[in-house]
Amino acid sequence: MIQLRNISKKFANGHVALNNVSLDIENGEFVFLVGTSGAGKSTIIKLMMKELELDSGMILINDKDVTKLKRSQVPHLRRSMGVVFQDFRLLQDKTVYENVAFAMEVVEASQKEIRRQVPMILGMVGLSKKSKQYPHQLSGGEQQRVSIARAMVNGPSILVADEPTGNLDPEMSWEIMKLFNEINQRGTTILMATHDLHIVDRMKKRVVEISDGNIIRDEKRGGYFSENQNR
Ligand code: ADP
Repeated sequence: MIQLRNISKKFANGHVALNNVSLDIENGEFVFLVGTSGAGKSTIIKLMMKELELDSGMILINDKDVTKLKRSQVPHLRRSMGVVFQDFRLLQDKTVYENVAFAMEVVEASQKEIRRQVPMILGMVGLSKKSKQYPHQLSGGEQQRVSIARAMVNGPSILVADEPTGNLDPEMSWEIMKLFNEINQRGTTILMATHDLHIVDRMKKRVVEISDGNIIRDEKRGGYFSENQNR
């Protein structure tokens, strides 16, 4: 479960990126976080990952206060929350297998667990045959699937994605969304920031809209364009 409690963030230049934002996401939900560029979506994700520090408020991930975690505990946050980015962020000098295994090594999983878990998760994302390839030998959609495998390999209960389809064409984007749907159906909570409203509209999931650091809409029934057209 994700609980944002009155979170605010002002940058050093005085810009208020988030203004007293509160949001509850229940276990098993699939939530789109939408809003124009600069609305504050990435700031929320960076605060959840502890890449940024809050000014005020509280972020609870599965009832644990992330803001109180020490730096040294951050890798372990990944056991409960996997993260996927627009630009994949794969290690170019490691193979597909090694990229995914590395996420287990940083949380000190045993070699036995790694040998069991990595092939299984690569199978789930449909990349068993590409495990010895390097990222530059893969398509954008395949690279994103490696990054999803890496995010999921430690069995997190939450998957957070920041514009995961931002660098992909519509067909590949849709493949990624089908994979997210499967992951969600197996019980993982998903929070996905995007400005691809066609995807949002088609998926029919809960939509939270942010504008200038404020939540301005929370549409539990899903859909985006169609909802607006019905007004
Ligand atoms: P989004 O992900 O919705 O596009 P962001 O969360 O990245 O938006 O940014 C929210 C606002 O905060 C934007 O106006 C952005 O320019 C600003 N911002 C983001 N990072 C910084 C920073 N390090 N310093 C100053 N302003 C920033």
